[in-house]
Amino acid sequence: MKISGVQVWKEEMPLTRPYTIAYKTTSSITNVFFQIQCDNGITGIGSSYISKAVVGFTSDEAYESIQQNKDWFIGRDVRQFQQIVHEARIFFDNNPGVLTALDLALHDAFCKFIGIPIVKYYGQKIRGLHTSITIGIKNVQETLEEAQEYYDRKFKILKVKLGNNLEEDIERLVKLRENFKDNMKIRIDANQGYSLAELIEFCDRTLDLDIELIEQPVPVKDSLSTRSLSWDIRKLIAADEYLVDAQSAMHLVQNEPACGIFNIKLMKCGGILESKAISTIAEKSNTDLMWGCNDESVISIAAGLHAALSSSNTKYIDLDGSLDLARDIAQGGFKIEEGFMTLTDTPGLGVELL
Ligand SMILES: [Mg+2]
Repeated sequence: MKISGVQVWKEEMPLTRPYTIAYKTTSSITNVFFQIQCDNGITGIGSSYISKAVVGFTSDEAYESIQQNKDWFIGRDVRQFQQIVHEARIFFDNNPGVLTALDLALHDAFCKFIGIPIVKYYGQKIRGLHTSITIGIKNVQETLEEAQEYYDRKFKILKVKLGNNLEEDIERLVKLRENFKDNMKIRIDANQGYSLAELIEFCDRTLDLDIELIEQPVPVKDSLSTRSLSWDIRKLIAADEYLVDAQSAMHLVQNEPACGIFNIKLMKCGGILESKAISTIAEKSNTDLMWGCNDESVISIAAGLHAALSSSNTKYIDLDGSLDLARDIAQGGFKIEEGFMTLTDTPGLGVELL
């Protein structure tokens, strides 16, 4: 089952709703797509959209790197896909934009070849989960309006971006809780916006608001210093920008855990294989798993869901990244009903190109 052809291309994808987080505003994104053809007629598709601020590479660099090295893939046997990913990690300098696109395309083709969805190749542990849906940084009134829209669309979990202004952050959360009582779960993402002292103050002042978890509250460089905080605070922390691979996962939980939750994104760690290594560290260290995303095609969102539902420590998913795309190049892969995400029983990723 040898690779006989590859295509790589980029698509500019506008968002239906531009959004702001602690360090940037985004209105359109560029996903990289990668397709392989095998000599037995099977194809595999992968995609990626990485953040330079988080992983140190751009999606454009990933595209150029694949484009310039197309011959590297030709003739390789997809039945040995784990070996191909291993070699690619060295050849492509650990660029997660290349690795994710390749890892997904190989998983897709290999699992089509053996005739099962990727989630069943690893063993399905969870049938499905409710995803959160994200509200960017905006004022109290706009926050309430957007939350109402998601409530009306039957989503059960809000993820609120904050981290620019502690007073306004708390006011938004107080008003959300007043308005929605216990009808919505609320998790937050500070995107490194708080100091350790602000985090402590935030936790003290939001004790009654039932905040489910706090993504990356402090700067990446301070991520291990949360060890000085009480476990009541640490157990709510979901490491995100700091957690880019299995090695950083180990740093977080060695000796005294710095957080209670890992937020895995395929776009940080370079695909499903590395995500499963992080998932194993989570199991062995009793760390809960959250699976997050960037703004991504359904191709890589489906991949994240396959990985999430095949990992026994998965507790949270935040896989809303394809819902705000004004245009995508694929469909299928998963179902979402009232915010509850499940996979289809189609072999591979289960997606279909449009
Ligand atoms: Mg985050």
